[in-house]
Amino acid sequence: MSPTNPFPFVDKESGATIVDERCTCGHYRSVHVDTAAWGHGACVATVAVHDHTGPCKCGKFTWSAWVFQATGKPHVKSKRKRARR
Ligand SMILES: [Zn+2]
Ligand SMILES: [Zn+2]
Repeated sequence: MSPTNPFPFVDKESGATIVDERCTCGHYRSVHVDTAAWGHGACVATVAVHDHTGPCKCGKFTWSAWVFQATGKPHVKSKRKRARR
């Protein structure tokens, strides 16, 4: 039986939607392997190490911050839609 992804869920206090958590290693909980709890194992993200990439050294998820669903404008270039007619 594998643990289930608890995200997203709504924070009752703020009403904000929490989509993930951040680890002290700087990566999201969703890139950590499952243990008894979802995403509480080692980080599987690859990080840039000088001129190559290697695995993150994080061996266990340690909570650092909530990751809220973006409420403002997403950090992407908006494609100008071409109005038809
Ligand atoms: Zn990591
Ligand atoms: Zn980590």
